[in-house]
Amino acid sequence: MADRSVPETGLEDATVLVTGGAGFIGSHLTAALAAENEVRVLDDCSTGTASKLPDGATLLRADVRDETALDRAMAGVDVVFHLAAVVSVEQSVEDPVESHAVNVDGTLAVLERARREDARVVLASSAAVYGEPTDLPVDETADTDPLSPYGADKLAADSYARVYADVYDLPVAVMRFFNVYGPGQRGPYSGVVDAFLQRAFADEPLVVHGDGEQTRDFVHVSDVVRALVAAASTAHTGLAYNVGSGESASINELAAAIREATGTTAEITHGSARPGDIRHSLADCDRMRERLGVEPTVSLREGIEHLVAYRRGRGVDSGDERSSTRDTIAE
Ligand code: NAD
Repeated sequence: MADRSVPETGLEDATVLVTGGAGFIGSHLTAALAAENEVRVLDDCSTGTASKLPDGATLLRADVRDETALDRAMAGVDVVFHLAAVVSVEQSVEDPVESHAVNVDGTLAVLERARREDARVVLASSAAVYGEPTDLPVDETADTDPLSPYGADKLAADSYARVYADVYDLPVAVMRFFNVYGPGQRGPYSGVVDAFLQRAFADEPLVVHGDGEQTRDFVHVSDVVRALVAAASTAHTGLAYNVGSGESASINELAAAIREATGTTAEITHGSARPGDIRHSLADCDRMRERLGVEPTVSLREGIEHLVAYRRGRGVDSGDERSSTRDTIAE
């Protein structure tokens, strides 16, 4: 795979904070930025791992709601990529108060300090703000109607960021990620690509929820990193950006592609549909293309083949993910 994670827009010699930088997306971003910038990471490592961080990045292990830690992390920053969040919809359903506190209050705390520091903010929002879209592909002007506490949190954070741009003239970019996948994504809530891959490698059945004809827009993490970096220097601030591939695939198609790429003998089986799951999702990526100059480049098939080859080559399935980020960047 080509060297797709290296930023095209060139963020250099900046002091950058990545909250949630030890997580899946954050660690890829941190690796892309570390060579040319002073990179700080604020992460409580609740789902992230310190070993994912590249050399040169400084980890401040703390909760984003810890005011003293946030003050330290944000002192003198030029750009903050705010990715730290409770990312599990299930967890947000179990404890909406806690997820609100991290996802909304945490974001507000970051925005307030950015205002003080005159720093740019690039915020991780989510396609979850749209709920079940009425028209596809969904563009950024579509109605927002979240279906979970997580989606409501993301919409609140997304709105606050855009309001800070309007009211305080703060340069913000709000990035609405669709279904992100790639190396280093692990854990119980990591998403269907990782779940299917783990099962395929273990020759265990790939369990599809419902009929499997529901569709998603899967976007490779390297394309997401390029969009984040471009957002850090765009003149088009104060806007939300869809960050997807612009292509949709059904869960049945995904399962079949993973079966083929891994050569597993595991069967595809169907379990009960998950309550609250949306039926279809597809990003209109025109704004990202036109204003950020970012074109999604990795097809789902290519991304899966790369993941399979990567896991085989690196023994990632035996648990060693230390080099996953840097390897993706360098390949
Ligand atoms: P992740 O769980 O790998 O990363 C989140 C990071 O935030 C972790 O390192 C975690 O330790 C850290 N964190 C959590 N709570 C914290 C707290 N209170 N203080 C400090 N750090 C804390 O998940 P990810 O997939 O890399 O998600 C990154 C961002 O992208 C999140 O904001 C998420 O909502 C958003 N997002 C992800 C996807 C996706 O498909 N992965 C889709 C839409 C939006």
